[in-house]
Amino acid sequence: MEIVAPFKEIIDVIKESGGDAFKLCYQCGLCDTVCPWNRVRTFSMRKIVRQATFGLTEIENEEIWRCTTCGKCPQRCPRGVKIIECGVSLRRIATEYGVFPTPVRPVRTASASLIGEGNPIGEERENRADWAKGLSVKTFTEGMEVLYFPGCYLSYDSRLKKVAAATANILNRAGVDFGILGSKENCCGESIRKTGDEECFKRLARENIKTFIENGVQKILVSSPHCYHTFKNEYPEFKVNFEVVHISQYIFELINEGRLELNKEYGKKVTYHDPCYLGRHNGIYDEPREALKKIPGLELIEMPDSRVDSLCCGGGGGRIWMETPKGERFSDLRLEQAMEVGAEVLVTSCPYCITNFEDSRLTLDVVENIEVKDITEIMQEVI
Ligand code: SF4
Ligand code: SF4
Repeated sequence: MEIVAPFKEIIDVIKESGGDAFKLCYQCGLCDTVCPWNRVRTFSMRKIVRQATFGLTEIENEEIWRCTTCGKCPQRCPRGVKIIECGVSLRRIATEYGVFPTPVRPVRTASASLIGEGNPIGEERENRADWAKGLSVKTFTEGMEVLYFPGCYLSYDSRLKKVAAATANILNRAGVDFGILGSKENCCGESIRKTGDEECFKRLARENIKTFIENGVQKILVSSPHCYHTFKNEYPEFKVNFEVVHISQYIFELINEGRLELNKEYGKKVTYHDPCYLGRHNGIYDEPREALKKIPGLELIEMPDSRVDSLCCGGGGGRIWMETPKGERFSDLRLEQAMEVGAEVLVTSCPYCITNFEDSRLTLDVVENIEVKDITEIMQEVI
């Protein structure tokens, strides 16, 4: 039997969640024409918005969990509908009722791990700084130039620990006085919030804010565009404002200030993928490209669907924890685009993008044809 949440409740929750502008929708369907889902299967955000308008959302339906919050449709909507907020508010109701379709169930495990250990991947809190062993990384103390906040995936994931190490090496080479919080660091909470688990998000955010204040943090350097987004645009909801900088911006800054010298050649064809939360959500398109262009020998080529039109990797909105069947993964399409323009290296600056691209590299069996790198990994090779 279908579970149809009560009419009034849906409308109220959407309103409370800032999704009230859904009423402005005039069903033009532009959102569906730009949505990446329609490149791999049929999916209609227009329909979801329509059903929500009448409080007729089927909360047990997998469709409400598809949106990756990539930001492509809100920038095109002629009526200014807050499409992402509308979708997230429906997930809040499903989360409250505990209704999770099978492919979405890993979200519950992620949430439990976030509450218990401060990360979504079931790792122990006390091991959070293990990636930094032997890399001359200090514990953050008040007065340091910057707090480096690697985030969960760079702290624990074996592939992404290499990115954290590359970052530490770059910072040390540039003489940056930085430190980490180690086991005192919690997940930023961005992605769990987009799954509708507002309570878990607030808990993580409050704990992080308390730690930042207690330790005298002023400037935070992040590797993940998701940490960037939530620290910069969502933590101010708690009446705090930290200076936040993404590593791709910081590298560009260090080069321009003469603190980082790029001495070696990198004679490869490289294409840059704009992560949704760095590009569309935060307007950072130029710094990573300009930094890459400064590398001797590197040839930067553009893919179709770049900058504001960037093709989502599929990992936002908590989708990184959900199951996406083969044949429906946007990252496969992106990897194909990169190879079609003749790139030898697909470079980006987001842990979710790297995870999905590495996965596609294996499943498409193109390991020999293309490399996937974080911008820091290339920089590390040329300094
Ligand atoms: S683009 Fe905006 S107005 Fe058009 S159908 Fe989508 S939500 Fe509605
Ligand atoms: S935000 Fe992106 S994934 Fe979500 S409905 Fe819009 S275009 Fe599709």
